[in-house]
Amino acid sequence: MKESNIIFLGAPGSGKGTRASVMGEVLSIPQISTGDIFRANIKNSTPLGLEAKSYTESGKLVPDELTAKMVKDRLLLDDCKNGFILDGFPRTLAQAEMLDVMLKEMGKEISYAMYLDVANEEIMKRLTGRRTCPKCQASFHIEYKPSSKGEICDICDEALAIRPDDNPETIKTRLEIYDTTTKPLIEYYNSQGKLYKVAGDVDMSKLREYIEGLVKEAGLA
Ligand code: AMP
Repeated sequence: MKESNIIFLGAPGSGKGTRASVMGEVLSIPQISTGDIFRANIKNSTPLGLEAKSYTESGKLVPDELTAKMVKDRLLLDDCKNGFILDGFPRTLAQAEMLDVMLKEMGKEISYAMYLDVANEEIMKRLTGRRTCPKCQASFHIEYKPSSKGEICDICDEALAIRPDDNPETIKTRLEIYDTTTKPLIEYYNSQGKLYKVAGDVDMSKLREYIEGLVKEAGLA
């Protein structure tokens, strides 16, 4: 099987997580969400969680060194040997450069940066309607992807929650940071011929089919 080392680029709420998760299933490689790792550490009050908490809850980025070290430790695990999907990393040019260095040390390189381009007004709508399961991390949307059990998780019956950083004020900060700090990565990967555009408006019921097509088209399978 071909090794696929993929990253997902796009604003918070652009649908990176959902697409990354489906692509991970299709390619049988892990989806690594830095946001999920931080949230799990915060929940368990680990030293990393204590350090990251104030940043994540105010919508700011956790410092590059700390985030990159966490990603490196994760990429060294055995399940990444046939590839991985990074969801939410890198988010700064410094992180992208650190990623290139660590991958080189591991004898790997990025296959593609999957890029989702979604307008800010749509992002606002998506983030304010987002609900997540605190137990299994499943993600829902009150309009686009509702749980069949209303405010209860379809999968594990836990009450759904609104992420602390999904309030309008924090969303604004996150979008500003995306525009100023993360967007330059589009050109970084484009200039390396690695940028691959992914549709941000695919109907949920057709998402798996769409991702399977994309995987074939990009020559990843
Ligand atoms: P996400 O779930 O991807 O929206 O991430 C939630 C929060 O985790 C972000 O707002 C940041 O505070 C933090 N975070 C996630 N990924 C990174 C990253 N690559 N660099 C710095 N902070 C991050």
